[in-house]
Amino acid sequence: MDKTDLKSLTLDEIKEFYKSIGEKSFRGEQAFKWIHNKMINSIEDITVFSKGLKNKLKDNCTISNIKILERYDSELDDTKKYLFLLEDGNIIESVMMKYKHGISLCLSTQVGCRMGCAFCASTQEGLVRNLTAGEILDQVYKIQEDLDVKISNIVLMGSGEPLDNYDNVIKFLNIIHSCEGQNIGYRHITLSTCGIVPKIYDLADEDISITLSISLHTPFDEERKKIMPVAKRYSINEIIKACKYYIQKTNRRITFEYTLIEGVNDSTENARELIKILKGILCHVNLIPLNPVDEFRYKDPNKKSVQKFHSILEKNGINATVRKEMGRDVNAACGQLRRKYINEDRNIAK
Ligand code: SAH
Repeated sequence: MDKTDLKSLTLDEIKEFYKSIGEKSFRGEQAFKWIHNKMINSIEDITVFSKGLKNKLKDNCTISNIKILERYDSELDDTKKYLFLLEDGNIIESVMMKYKHGISLCLSTQVGCRMGCAFCASTQEGLVRNLTAGEILDQVYKIQEDLDVKISNIVLMGSGEPLDNYDNVIKFLNIIHSCEGQNIGYRHITLSTCGIVPKIYDLADEDISITLSISLHTPFDEERKKIMPVAKRYSINEIIKACKYYIQKTNRRITFEYTLIEGVNDSTENARELIKILKGILCHVNLIPLNPVDEFRYKDPNKKSVQKFHSILEKNGINATVRKEMGRDVNAACGQLRRKYINEDRNIAK
């Protein structure tokens, strides 16, 4: 039988687990604090536990642990990109960005992705597997430890579709928010999704006020189907309805991401239709000039057309910003680095 990973258990679950092996639940709470606040990586490091308890725990459980494989430091800004090696040999990536208001981390939620967006490097070889809550958390812990910093914001915008790994992502949110752990406020966390409608409703019903970010990329269903296969399942109309429900439940402003791709979705007509569908919704549009991926034919738009798109939105009362490009020299776009690393066929086993 697989041993239980203590790092992936919420506070309630770890207390229950301790009871199930005949220990007091407050011992579970202690373990939780050591794992998620002190960020220790082995049962041996929980120095408040007796030898007997440690041995009993080792028979029943483990503490999962990811390792930094490489770190790439941007020379253009303070962005740092990390490649992590998981215990089963898989590789994931995360990005650290420094802003005036603090340090923000972009985390992966899956190894690969099965959403198939036509411009995204993460999805090129499909989904390998979901990350556990512990592996999502560990990206935070390892970066904090490596840089000796406390991070303030998290965006679930790395590789993977967070709502396609719903249960583990909810556990991650619960644990990272816990005051016995890192105590990161829900308002400092953003979850980005390509628009899995039923899960948006589920998330709204969780009563956690994280920022929801929708990868819309075009206001036209037919165009969206060409670049995002998920659009064949859920229409823009259904997504907007779910967003309205999310706003009603959480009172949070929604972000719509719009990756601008030259000649595909950057026309005046696109901007005008976007205004129509977003009118009256508590939202913000994040325009992202495409970060071109070698294997795809898509190009990034020139600066002028980005500005034009932006100003049409603004003039019509839609709040929008153009995402500041960070760490382009370290392949900071989704999944680019992992693929590059794997393609270079490096021997990671040694
Ligand atoms: N699966 C989630 C989160 C990961 S992708 C989602 O779809 O939202 C995070 C954002 O980066 C998404 O908006 C995605 O469409 C965008 N993205 C992916 N590849 C990109 C690229 N090459 N250039 C610009 N944006 C990209």
